Amino acid sequence: MGRDAAGGHRGAPGPPLAPGPGFRTFIGTFPPHRHPAVMIRVTFLGTAAARPTVGRNVSGLSVQREGEIVLFDCGEGTQRQMMRYGTGFAVGAIFITHIHADHFLGLTGLLRTMGLQGRTEPMVVYGPPGSARALGQAVHLGVERVPFPVDIREVEAGTRVGKGDWFIDVFPVQHGIRAVGYALQEADRLGRFDVERARALGVPEGPAFGRLHRGETVEAADGRLVGPDQVVGPARPGRRVVYTGDTRPTASVVDAARGADLLIHDATFLAEDAERARETGHSTTVEAAEVAREAGVRRLALTHVSARYAEVPHLLEGEARAVFAETVVAYDGLTVEVPYAEGGEEES
Ligand SMILES: [Zn+2]
Ligand SMILES: [Zn+2]
Repeated sequence: MGRDAAGGHRGAPGPPLAPGPGFRTFIGTFPPHRHPAVMIRVTFLGTAAARPTVGRNVSGLSVQREGEIVLFDCGEGTQRQMMRYGTGFAVGAIFITHIHADHFLGLTGLLRTMGLQGRTEPMVVYGPPGSARALGQAVHLGVERVPFPVDIREVEAGTRVGKGDWFIDVFPVQHGIRAVGYALQEADRLGRFDVERARALGVPEGPAFGRLHRGETVEAADGRLVGPDQVVGPARPGRRVVYTGDTRPTASVVDAARGADLLIHDATFLAEDAERARETGHSTTVEAAEVAREAGVRRLALTHVSARYAEVPHLLEGEARAVFAETVVAYDGLTVEVPYAEGGEEES
């Protein structure tokens, strides 16, 4: 047909990102750490509320953990943002928070593009209860067939969508229509392995170290048995990244975000527009920051910014930081890497 398959752009890196407002906070506040053994990288594809502006697209969030990518929300134009910011299109699953147009209309074009790129792997699109019909319409709109299987699954709050070493937890939010938030949760990691102590106990270096680390008892050079409790510390908690989608500040979000490494929260309005936030089922900067403080998260990223503040994002940041210092107002293209709480030491 002579149509230009967009496959040539797959994974092409975007232009280098100029540090924007708030970026220094993330880098500067946390001391330089060694690169985490398993990288989690969050890229904000769209940070505008309801409609795009010149500088911000509607909602979309790419989260990459090692080689795997999941998308949270997929507003119109998300696919172009993915090209622009070089996230790659090898998306394993798409999680839609609710079926307001600014959160899912991008599915139609994104899936067509993936088809043109030659994708054959199945795609799973998750959404809240009652969303399957609208999601199905978005997926199948038009005459072109999506040339790979698309499985649409409704997930209720409280569900855990499981994989081996990480999961997506679905939690309730409060937005006036059926809506959920999603949290990426890593499984616990093995405890720290004390190499010096293992050597001192006479454990032969090599495979025995790994077996010991994974919980097996091994034999030392002198024939004595050495158990994991002698050389392996307690299991270390995995990281947690929480995305609310659109919501009022609410206890269920505090619960879901407790101790999270990164909370990404609706902050559609400034505090002075609190009434409007209440009416429309959104949050203000201060409300989002209060949730972050109450939940004891490490960092907060505000998103879903109303077009009325297009010229003044620093006002949002200032308000939120007065309540919760480790806050950034996300902008399109902002990439945040999520280190381990204990400082990102190398896996051992
Ligand atoms: Zn929205
Ligand atoms: Zn909404």
